[in-house]
Order: sequence, then structure tokens, then C-alpha cells
Amino acid sequence: MSRIEAALAEADGDERHALVALRAPALKMIARVRVALSEVGVPVASLAGRGLPEDVGGPFVPLSSTPGALGFDANLALSRDAVAQAERLSAIVARVPLRKPLSGPLEMTSPFGARIDPFLGRPAMHTGIDFRETYGDSVHATAAGIVTIAGTDGGYGTMVEVDHGGGFSTRYAHLSSVSVAPNQKVAAGDIVGHVGSTGRATGPHLHYETRINGEPVDPTRFLRAGARIFEE
Ligand SMILES: [Zn+2]
Repeated sequence: MSRIEAALAEADGDERHALVALRAPALKMIARVRVALSEVGVPVASLAGRGLPEDVGGPFVPLSSTPGALGFDANLALSRDAVAQAERLSAIVARVPLRKPLSGPLEMTSPFGARIDPFLGRPAMHTGIDFRETYGDSVHATAAGIVTIAGTDGGYGTMVEVDHGGGFSTRYAHLSSVSVAPNQKVAAGDIVGHVGSTGRATGPHLHYETRINGEPVDPTRFLRAGARIFEE
């Protein structure tokens, strides 16, 4: 925002073009994040009503505005809006579990959905994704949030659950150890525990769940969207 103020201070006709250049990265980021979030299946407009830290209301900047046709004030207003929207979207992105729970490439060994239960030998719902990983490797929070569970829970073994607000939560199961405690705040990427094979596990792996309002949804939706945002 300070760069916009600086541009305002030196205002003359040519500054319009500086303002356009200034908002271009913000508009690019907005477009990229909106496409990515639409892949999650949760429209940005509905995220605003999900108790996320910042209101995401307000009109989006029209992408088609031609800079030459606008005066300085109108250009300044558009740039302010674009930067403000980019900031609001950044706050949302921090709370949506879009990042990878493990560093390095993910090696999925069992997808989300119906599968033959490895213990019972009959069809059962798999509420997350299993990723192969070395015993003891770090498991990372995929978004900022507050730890709600850090301990042992039946078939999950040693597990961590993080509430990200807005109805989003994640679970990290079969851990060998936890690195967080209930009610602890975590940032995206923080280590929550280490890979193990506790609970109903046939070997070391991470069972990772993403939930919306408590219902498990396929984590690949989030991971694909995250790849668009973070790996470009
Ligand atoms: Zn699993």
C-alpha cells in the first residue's frame, strides 16, 4: 500500500501507467488463487461466510478495465482494491489446507474413498489418503490453525487434528510421535509430528485427512489446488 501512496505523491499523467504496473501482480495472484480455490469446490464467496479471519466481501476488480481510459484517481482506486483483495485472499489461503503434509514428492499408496480394508478384507470407506514415507520423517500442518487433538485415538493410532477455522480441519494419523499439544496455534508448514505406524497401520506411512464441517473430503482436491498456487 505504501508504494501506492508514494505513487500518489508524485502524481502526474504518466503515473497512471505506474499504478497499472503496480496492480498487475495483485490481479494475477487474485486470478490464480480464485481458479485454485474453485478446484477445491468451495467458492471464494462462500468462504467469506465460513468464519474466516477476514471478510472477503466487496466487488472484485474488473480485469478488463483499460488503463488509458481511466483517470489517476480511478486507477488509484483500482490498484488499492486489487492490493486489498490480494491481501484478503492471502489470509484465506493461509487457513485452507492447501499445502503438502510431507516435504518432498508425495507417494500415494492408498487413495480416498471405497477400498478393500487391509485388515478386514472387505470394502470399507477410506477417509483419507495414505502416503508412503520414511519412519520418523516430519509431518507438517497444511494450513494455519489450532490443534484440537494430539494423542492416541483408536485406529488412527497417535494422531493430530488441526482446526483451521471456516469449517476446515485436517488429521495426521499413525504417527510415531506428536510435536504439538491441544489448543496450540500452528502456522502452515509447522511440524505437528513424525511418521510412524501406530494404530491400524501395516507399516510406516502417513494417513492424511481433510474435512469440511467434520465430513472427510478427498485431500487431492486441496493438494491439486495448492500445487497451482505454490508450485508455479
Ligand atoms: Zn489411511
